[in-house]
Amino acid sequence: MSIFLATSNKGKVKEISEFLGELVIPYTDVIEAFDIEEHGDTFGANALIKAKAVYEKLPKNSIVIADDSGISVPLFGGEPGIYSARYAGVNASDKDNLNKLISELKKADIKKTPAFYTAAIALVCEEDEFVVHGWMHGDVIDEIRGNSGFGYDPMFIPEGYEQTLGELPKDIKSDFSHRIKALRLIVPIIEMIKRGRI
Ligand code: IMP
Repeated sequence: MSIFLATSNKGKVKEISEFLGELVIPYTDVIEAFDIEEHGDTFGANALIKAKAVYEKLPKNSIVIADDSGISVPLFGGEPGIYSARYAGVNASDKDNLNKLISELKKADIKKTPAFYTAAIALVCEEDEFVVHGWMHGDVIDEIRGNSGFGYDPMFIPEGYEQTLGELPKDIKSDFSHRIKALRLIVPIIEMIKRGRI
C-alpha cells in the first residue's frame, strides 16, 4: 500500500517527507503533474479536492495525502488566507507573494501585526476520506529577515521568539509548525488503515 503526496510544492514535499520519512512518494514520481483547480472556500475543502483528484488517477489501493495551507493576517480580514499561493497573481512566485504582503503592511504603515499559518491535510483511501488541521501563531513584519524555510517564513516571527522562521534553525519550525501539528494527527489514521482497522 503506497502513500502518495498530492503536491508539487518543493518546500512542502521536503517538510512532509522529512516528517513521514520513507512513507510518502510525491505523485509526480509516478504520473505527470497536472493542474488541479482549487475552488474550495476553506483550506480543508481545497486539501480534499487535491487529494481526490490525485487519488482518482492512481491504483485503487493507494493512499493519497494532500496539504493546503497559507497565512492569515487578521488586520487584513484574514488575507491572504486560502489565496496565499496566488496573493500577488495567478502565476506569482513565493517571493512575489511575500513582497506583496510586505508592501501591504508598508502601505498600512504597520511594522508588525499578528498572523497565523493554517495547514489542512486531507487523506483519501479506498475506504474513506479524512481532513485534519494544524495552526502556528505569531506576527508578520514589514521586512525580510533570513532565508531559511520557504514562502512567507522570512517575514513570520513565531510566538515566543524574536527571530523570523527565515532566521531560526530549521528544527525549531519542525517542532511546532502548522503542518507538523496536522501531520501528527494523520499518522494514527495511516496506521489504522495499514492495520485494516478502517
Ligand atoms: P497551497 O500550495 O495552495 O497550499 O499554497 C500554500 C501557500 O502558503 C504558498 O504560497 C506557501 O508559500 C504558503 N505557505 C504554506 N505553508 C507555509 C509555510 O510553512 N511557510 C511559508 N509559507 C507557507
